Amino acid sequence: MDEYLKLLREIIAIRSVSTDASYQTEIHKAVKWYKELLSRAGAEVEIISGYDNPFVIAKFLVDKSLSTCLVYGHYDVQPANIDEGWTSEPFSLRIDDQRVYARGVVDNKGQALIHIYSVIRAFRENKLSKNVVFLLEGNEETGSPALPRFIKDKSKLLKADLALISDGEIVGSTPVIEAGFRGGFNSTLQVKTADLDLHSGIYGGTAPNAAHELITILTKLIDAKTYKVNIPGFYEDVDTITDDQLKNNKSIPFNSKDYKDISGIKVILNEEYDVYTQTGLLPSVQITGISSGYNGQGYRNGIPAVASAKINFSTCKITIGAKKLQNSSENLLIRLNQVMLRSIYKSTILMKE
Ligand SMILES: [Zn+2]
Repeated sequence: MDEYLKLLREIIAIRSVSTDASYQTEIHKAVKWYKELLSRAGAEVEIISGYDNPFVIAKFLVDKSLSTCLVYGHYDVQPANIDEGWTSEPFSLRIDDQRVYARGVVDNKGQALIHIYSVIRAFRENKLSKNVVFLLEGNEETGSPALPRFIKDKSKLLKADLALISDGEIVGSTPVIEAGFRGGFNSTLQVKTADLDLHSGIYGGTAPNAAHELITILTKLIDAKTYKVNIPGFYEDVDTITDDQLKNNKSIPFNSKDYKDISGIKVILNEEYDVYTQTGLLPSVQITGISSGYNGQGYRNGIPAVASAKINFSTCKITIGAKKLQNSSENLLIRLNQVMLRSIYKSTILMKE
């Protein structure tokens, strides 16, 4: 346990944020850390570049006649700043009452390292009964754009009898086998109403305001009463949820008090479905960031010319392929665009995938 925690502490301290290009040095530091750890332990390690952030492949070969298990994990994380409500420095491991806290502990450095460390130990003690291949990527948090191409190109290298995804969770203290995940993609919606910010005294009341326009659009995304997504056709491709699935999901232990306590939320939306069905089998749209106008100290009386929102889509066709996902995202953007165009005048909408 001490050895595991020592390693976890080291990798947590590396700020391998993939969503911000200024962390590239840290990304490479993380790759080097895994390479050293895994080669020291006796694995054949390959670092593969040319697919965004490097992939780390580590093979623990016991015997060619044995079956092979492929374990997937990712070494990249989302940004974290202590000002966002952390009770301790997010990139420094904190242990409190047998729990560990830090950015990446549950997504995904902690779990991936449990698998890596267990295999290292079993290999060291000659107890590994299968060959194990680790596939660690550095762009999971940006949507794994190069992963499908990588898997296609390297299918020989990744050949396995069984694949295990380390990027999952347990329910309370019950281990679970996750049968599927929602897919997802991000988009940025930008509204431009003028060439430059305008003085509110001179233009206020006559000039369109990009922030107002953006808000008008965004309020149309979700129905305020039912919380259902208002984009036409959004639920069209969703598989019918079967009674068996509903029954199964209802039988998974769920504690709504814990769910609320951990997150600080006061209500659970969409109570028509249990939480597992809602977050596993139904799609969702979430605004994940908004920016416009002046946000510094004090006030500046300017009418914003530009406003933008980052929007995250969780899609839920379990068997959805990369191509289908891309096509459906484009369709969704087109549909979204139609909804928006109706609510806008003299504004330009730029959509970036
Ligand atoms: Zn993850």
